[in-house]
Amino acid sequence: MAPIHKNPIQHLLHPNHSLTLFDSNTKYVCDGCKTLGIGKRFNCPECDFDLHEYCGTCPMNLSSFLHPYHSLKLVNRVPHGNRQLDRICNVCCDSIEGLFYRCKICEFDVHPLCTLLPQTLRHVLHEEHRLRLLSSSESRTCVICKGACNAFSWRYRCALCEFDIHMECMLVQCKKQKTWLGISKYVPPSIFPNTFQYFEYEFSYSNHNHNHNDMSHPHQCTDHGTTSRRIGNVIFVIVKIVTTALILGL
Ligand SMILES: [Zn+2]
Ligand SMILES: [Zn+2]
Ligand SMILES: [Zn+2]
Ligand SMILES: [Zn+2]
Ligand SMILES: [Zn+2]
Ligand SMILES: [Zn+2]
Repeated sequence: MAPIHKNPIQHLLHPNHSLTLFDSNTKYVCDGCKTLGIGKRFNCPECDFDLHEYCGTCPMNLSSFLHPYHSLKLVNRVPHGNRQLDRICNVCCDSIEGLFYRCKICEFDVHPLCTLLPQTLRHVLHEEHRLRLLSSSESRTCVICKGACNAFSWRYRCALCEFDIHMECMLVQCKKQKTWLGISKYVPPSIFPNTFQYFEYEFSYSNHNHNHNDMSHPHQCTDHGTTSRRIGNVIFVIVKIVTTALILGL
């Protein structure tokens, strides 16, 4: 791993040693938020302790458009045996197992990485208007999966045109196609992929064990249990895609 020459940091989760920022192409699990990362990380070489760059430096208190009413406080969840008490990220709907932001009043919980999602963005499939990140409460069919991925997570939406894309469907590559007039245009893939591959990490779109029968809260996050479909593990990729120009060049 190549060290990045920046001052080492001290972190409350690893009080005995300082952490240095490294860059490497290997995969790691962040010892802060317990989700996957590839690339930059704060590391303690002595203890093999890793933190996402953001988890190493994110503020104790955060104001976010994701929860405009109250400021969010950084907390660390200590895991325990009772799965009934599992916490779910209100934005990506995956479980929370370490560091997270919380509004105690509203019981609103979110992964640190999920707070990096931009409020609005432009997508190649809808260049007319910016899309806005919104909760799934009044969802339309996602233009990419057309309902196939059945996600509960928040989505990017143009309310004006009723145009929706799931967070995880941001990972799906759109193809450039020429119309009969010879104009190039991006289109969603005709066959929705079952998996998304990033380095050696594979994310599955179809492997659900949602409680499909629970129609009383059809648009609310449910515990994903033992599913291998962990969107939490691809949040860092989604953030990378949506915060760089990549989304325009796919
Ligand atoms: Zn992290
Ligand atoms: Zn250490
Ligand atoms: Zn999340
Ligand atoms: Zn609140
Ligand atoms: Zn979708
Ligand atoms: Zn629009």
